[in-house]
Amino acid sequence: MSWGLLLSFGLGGVGWTFAEYSIHNWVMHGGGGRNEFSRQHLDHHADPNFFSPIWGKYLTEALVVSAMLGLGTWLAGFAPALSFAAGFVVVYHSYEALHQRLHTHPPKGPVGRFLRRHHMTHHFVAPTKNHGVTFPLWDLAFGSYRKAPERIVIPARHAPRWLFGPAGGVRPEFAGDYGLRGGAVTAAQQAADRQAAYSNLAVV
Ligand SMILES: [Zn+2]
Ligand SMILES: [Zn+2]
Repeated sequence: MSWGLLLSFGLGGVGWTFAEYSIHNWVMHGGGGRNEFSRQHLDHHADPNFFSPIWGKYLTEALVVSAMLGLGTWLAGFAPALSFAAGFVVVYHSYEALHQRLHTHPPKGPVGRFLRRHHMTHHFVAPTKNHGVTFPLWDLAFGSYRKAPERIVIPARHAPRWLFGPAGGVRPEFAGDYGLRGGAVTAAQQAADRQAAYSNLAVV
């Protein structure tokens, strides 16, 4: 692979992180439930253990990559366009896997701990902040960075399963970073959660 193709692959990857930030901030949260991306994402905020169906994502991805290849080939030729699209797609899939993992698996090191606290702050403290998931530096660039509080308190019904120990409370190793509040879910709470999510408010 030539340096030029390597560069376009890298630019494609960085391009995804910017698309991720932009879509999350301006389309999903800015959309207030008025577009399909927004509705699916705000449903994830109303119930953070819900992830939107994968087929819709793949369809969108196929359309975006086709348009990218067409435009890129016209601008720079087929090989650089393909390389850019490959970088974009690889980092996009890393994002999908990472985002789900933040909710489903415990952190293993300082980077995982930081990314989880950054994203949990987005969910449970300030949904209009911390839109970058794979690349939180975009939050610094656009002024939407919110430092995670020392201890993030999460409604128990929305807490990631990895947070719980065998006795039901927070695992001792995470007790400094997270706390739990509230008990089991009720229908009234579910309705209130949906309303809060669609108003870009943290679920309480
Ligand atoms: Zn999430
Ligand atoms: Zn969000």
